[in-house]
Amino acid sequence: MSAIIMDGKQLAAQIRDTLKDEVAEYQNQSVQPGLAVILVGNHPASETYVQAKQKAALAVGIRSYLIRFADNVSQGELLAKIAQLNNDPQVNGILVQLPLPKHIDVQTVIDAIDPEKDVDGFHPLNVGNMQVGKKTLLPCTPFGIVKLLKAYNIPLQGKHAVIVGHSHIVGRPMATLLLNENATVSVCHAYTENLKEMTKMADILIVAVGKKHLITGDMVKPAATVIDVGINREGKRIFGDCDFDSIKDIASHITPVPGGVGPMTIATLLCNTLQAARSQSKQPVLV
Ligand code: NAP
Repeated sequence: MSAIIMDGKQLAAQIRDTLKDEVAEYQNQSVQPGLAVILVGNHPASETYVQAKQKAALAVGIRSYLIRFADNVSQGELLAKIAQLNNDPQVNGILVQLPLPKHIDVQTVIDAIDPEKDVDGFHPLNVGNMQVGKKTLLPCTPFGIVKLLKAYNIPLQGKHAVIVGHSHIVGRPMATLLLNENATVSVCHAYTENLKEMTKMADILIVAVGKKHLITGDMVKPAATVIDVGINREGKRIFGDCDFDSIKDIASHITPVPGGVGPMTIATLLCNTLQAARSQSKQPVLV
């Protein structure tokens, strides 16, 4: 039997519809939420992501400001801009599009963002709050994946989730959010021995590596849920980390690439921006 395709595009559209109403209602009581996006250089994939984020923000009524820097911008200039945005009441969320050029220390830049405006959920204070299970701004991709799993009623409690990839933006926060849902979590990475033995044990397999078709059907447990985070570009085509064709008749659920995790990442960024605006204006968080 063929797996159920987890349609992130459709769920993201539903979330945007809800957000549009909530942003309109928020505006009646307060001001329009604002999202500042900082883009350094003109990396084609980053340009695409930033455009998609801005378009989605505008569609739900969030004001979006794009701040561009050349790729030789100094770290000091970048930090000065972040300090200015931290103090700008029109800006509720600040996002620095990654990757940054090598001469800039990413963690120093993330640390400079006001945690209340850190809509990517990467600031150590928000990471710590997430670890202890406090309501906070959550990293967009793992947050979107949890929403997707819940929308498709995938049981998490007591299930074995195997995550491939342990980056700070996907793998590690994903592990935390699933632990917070009482899943049993294993995290694999480049040094994991016998990756296949691990992935075959997964009730829920989440792959965030950046290697086209790293995971094939023979590495998947029958009836598992497979979440493919990978984005691998070949010309105009995009491939996931999972070989969809060899997995689709083994898994019970699978995300497509594109149209799975990507749109959810953008939808949760918008949720975070509204949440940030609400908490800055001391309004209750609804989303
Ligand atoms: P990253 O920072 O490069 O991390 C990749 C991870 O994969 C690392 O933990 C690395 O381990 C591990 N890894 C590398 N080779 C491996 C192998 N052969 N077997 C097992 N693990 C291996 O990447 P990322 O930022 O997490 O992104 C991962 C992928 O997701 C990329 O394709 C990215 O474009 C995509 N992505 C998509 C979205 C979305 O919204 N759809 C969002 C974010 C990222 P070591 O550290 O030990 O080398």
